[in-house]
Amino acid sequence: MVKTAIFLGGGASAAAMAPVQADLFREYFRLVRDSDSVINSEMYREVTAYFATLFDIDITKNDVENLLFPTFEEALGILDLAVRRREALKDFDLENISKNSNRIGFLRQYLVLLMAAVLDYKSSDPRDLHCSMIQGLERAGLLMDTTFITTNYDTLIDDALARVPFYQIDYGIDFINLNPNYASSSAGSVKLYKIHGSLNWLYCPTCNTISLTTKEKGIIRLLEDMKNSDCKRCQSVMLPVIVPPTFFKDMSNVFLSLVWNKAEQALLEVNRIIFCGYSFSDADMHIKYLMKRIQTNRVEPSSLHIYVINNHHGKNEHARISEKRRYTRFLGRLVEYTDLAFEDFVNDPASYFHTFH
Ligand SMILES: [Zn+2]
Repeated sequence: MVKTAIFLGGGASAAAMAPVQADLFREYFRLVRDSDSVINSEMYREVTAYFATLFDIDITKNDVENLLFPTFEEALGILDLAVRRREALKDFDLENISKNSNRIGFLRQYLVLLMAAVLDYKSSDPRDLHCSMIQGLERAGLLMDTTFITTNYDTLIDDALARVPFYQIDYGIDFINLNPNYASSSAGSVKLYKIHGSLNWLYCPTCNTISLTTKEKGIIRLLEDMKNSDCKRCQSVMLPVIVPPTFFKDMSNVFLSLVWNKAEQALLEVNRIIFCGYSFSDADMHIKYLMKRIQTNRVEPSSLHIYVINNHHGKNEHARISEKRRYTRFLGRLVEYTDLAFEDFVNDPASYFHTFH
């Protein structure tokens, strides 16, 4: 049996919902404008002040639609560099002996939570692309031989897997709030490794445990209901496990390390990897490192076939050519760069499994 890994990048989520990542701040202020709810007033105040002071953007006086926002990577990247260099920014300090210090530290957390709130709000798959993929694989009996690896924090793929009866999701880590044997009564568990974290994980830094919030996204609970987002065991405030898109990716969380290790072990066993909606960007050095390891640390390096499905309507030829070059210069000639879009693949994944090696 051919074992397969499906690697989902941002493009797979973008195909399902409106592409929010590129215009995250505008989406957030639209959300605030249209819902009369600021989600978290302290967060709103600090983010607004940051844009006013460092980017000369006055949210209160201008129409959100006409403002030019920095990218999320830029807004967070400046704060990350200040922390690394132990320097302060105008009106934004690091921790010092004054009681209300470390505005930078708070702001970094707010930006990550803001991103989570926007993703959660937008997180729906009206065309059921993820469901269609999962159900297609299940009908063809291919689900158990498929490992899913995703860089997305949204729960589109989790929700699609949860809708298939008798299967459980194996995230590669043990959640403190779930019985470790919870999967044993099911037909099987499907491996889903979320290598940049997930909106429905909450981490207790004191107990060093992680919880899975099944009925809601735990991160949203942090914003809306602080009192009930304490660790049940030690009452510490829980933290999100999310590696935001920034130049300095911090992957040091112990549970993320476990997930990366599980992903590596699983990828060593597969004969093919299908990249969906992933552009193999220059900034993702950790992923390139992982791919090079699993490609070369196997008995027969030539047994691994790699397929790329990342086309979309209106994608220009120049973008396609440079993306194809990125993949092949790093992974070699065994890469097959298809002209398929994620929508094409999910329609009938089993038939593509048969035509691919
Ligand atoms: Zn705790």
